[in-house]
Amino acid sequence: MKRYLILGIFLIGIVIGVSWWVLDRPVDMHVYTRIEKENGTEISINYPVTGIRKLDRLVETAVSQQETLFRAEAEGMMREFNVDYRYWVVNDRYIQIVLTFFRNNEGLAHPINEIKTFVFDRSKNKILTLSDIMTQEELTRLVPVLQQKFIQKYKDCILMDELQSVIGPDFASYSLFTFNDEVLTFYFNPYEITAGYCNIVSITIPWQEINSKIKITKDVFVDVSWVDSNRSVIDVSKKVVALTFDDGPSKYTNEILTILKEENAVATFFVLGNKVESYQDTIRQAILNGNELGNHSYNHKSMRRLSKEEIQKQVNDTQEVIYRFTGYTPTYLRPTYGFSNQKIKTSTNLEIVLWNVDSLDWKLKNVKTIVNRTMDDVYDGAIILMHDTHARTVEVVRDLIKKLKEQDYQFVTVSELAELKKLKM
Ligand code: ZN
Repeated sequence: MKRYLILGIFLIGIVIGVSWWVLDRPVDMHVYTRIEKENGTEISINYPVTGIRKLDRLVETAVSQQETLFRAEAEGMMREFNVDYRYWVVNDRYIQIVLTFFRNNEGLAHPINEIKTFVFDRSKNKILTLSDIMTQEELTRLVPVLQQKFIQKYKDCILMDELQSVIGPDFASYSLFTFNDEVLTFYFNPYEITAGYCNIVSITIPWQEINSKIKITKDVFVDVSWVDSNRSVIDVSKKVVALTFDDGPSKYTNEILTILKEENAVATFFVLGNKVESYQDTIRQAILNGNELGNHSYNHKSMRRLSKEEIQKQVNDTQEVIYRFTGYTPTYLRPTYGFSNQKIKTSTNLEIVLWNVDSLDWKLKNVKTIVNRTMDDVYDGAIILMHDTHARTVEVVRDLIKKLKEQDYQFVTVSELAELKKLKM
């Protein structure tokens, strides 16, 4: 008995050892497989699971949407559902997944084929569209070249009106593509630009031909997509709240990060560009712990008083310095003093986010008062404003998280909150 126990512990040790080694690797892909056969229905699903939570969730969602469609189609008939994939790591920054879906049943004249691609940028923690990797000038050169190639290659099944509209002015937002150092490949689903019998079609264009090159930079960056994999999944049926901190980082930020980590919580830090270099370690740690960074201007000038050019400089300089020291690119701007107007909005591509609950930690001196008034105002989906520039805020965070947890709140970043709101719409 004792011997089995020791063997058991030894085996568990190996498992822990192996998973530790696996977790330590930047991307560890495994393939999810489900193959089943029931009453004339055959299902084979294979797709990569990367360990990058955001990417994995998008892939899983795409697969389950297809499976739902399949389940709704021609019930009781002989039918087949197949999910296949291609996966590759372009470099330490870009990961690409191509999923192909095949749905068939005996009532259909032709099976249904669909393709979906995911070009994931680990430094931005997001799926890219064309506009993320090409400038407007490059896109302008690309469109006629692509149209021309398309007409040559698929002249027998092309739908000209669709060609003009799909590969047209809005092509910047197109997302079905993959690339490497040499070429860019575009995919189009059946009926998108071609008659259905041509199936999924693709066109490959050398970067050279459009006078362009993918910037496969080797900049130092924190692998932001990998960092939050230890966090528990957000339960969409439960309440959420987004803690946000403005004006930092400061000497108090590290303590706040420690509390957040201990409580398995995350927050969003709207930082000032001019502090980034001095607190670069703190900021990197914030990212590594799964927190989000936002832009709060370079030096906290009142944005409503600045010209459009000055606002842009404030915002862009901050984006640049954050990227330089962390490889991270914020997607949200919180204008200074919580004031936003049309001029500020049109000065930036960043999304503007304010708050709903002001802790008044900058004004009230007593920790208990700050916590209590915040708890009075809080609600599901609220964004709470705090400042990681006061000693008392450290204590506020400690108490507030405990109280919020007692009321079953989960902690999310501003981006996660936005995603949840979309999901619930
Ligand atoms: Zn501020």
